[in-house]
Amino acid sequence: MPVQRIDRLLTNMGLCSRKEAAAAAKSGAVTVDGEICRDASRKIDPEKCRLTFRGEPVSYEGNVYLMLHKPLGVLSATEDREQKTVLDLLPQPYRARGVFPVGRLDKDTSGLLLLTDDGALGHALTSPRRQVEKVYEAEADGVLGQADIDAFAAGLALRDGTVCRPAKLEIRAVREGHSYVTVTVCEGKYHQVRRMLAARGAPVLALKRVAEGPLPLDPALEPGQWRPLRSDEIGLLR
Ligand code: URA
Repeated sequence: MPVQRIDRLLTNMGLCSRKEAAAAAKSGAVTVDGEICRDASRKIDPEKCRLTFRGEPVSYEGNVYLMLHKPLGVLSATEDREQKTVLDLLPQPYRARGVFPVGRLDKDTSGLLLLTDDGALGHALTSPRRQVEKVYEAEADGVLGQADIDAFAAGLALRDGTVCRPAKLEIRAVREGHSYVTVTVCEGKYHQVRRMLAARGAPVLALKRVAEGPLPLDPALEPGQWRPLRSDEIGLLR
């Protein structure tokens, strides 16, 4: 990679716009070799310098890998004529790079959503053969118990007869007729967790994905916030 301006490097990587890079540098959000660099026009050798942006090391790998805390009410799609999509939560350059969400969360589900422009990795993570585990926290309207844990473990039949792979149901608390549970599934059927809990007579009131494969949702991310994955995290996904 050639010596280049920091703002150009960040823009080319789809991390922000040129203007955002300048503003971020001014506010102290860019470091080069551990020192704050307030001048985004400074030229660096990306292979020799350690660059960080908004507290995260900038990985020079050719692709973009992001973790988003998807808020409620936003579609897991790249575009929609009427509704807000997860791409609308990212700086504009990502759209041009072809970044897309890895798998889907329902509009009414919040939590961890990975986005990338790496088609091969996106495909691998959603491939049924790979059986990547996804962990959800749910509040369900109903009192769940051991029989439900056993039914999940055995491979639950949904109301339409579809049979799910064995899944894990943990009951964290039951209060006032509501169950607070953690569900771990290794497939991605349409509305799967909602349909699984509905099949046990406990419709979902709230649903949040808290982990995907080896990656937990970063607790520092508020709904709507995102950050690039660190290179060790990208390595875990491969
Ligand atoms: N299961 C669901 O029902 N909805 C999601 O968004 C994800 C898993």
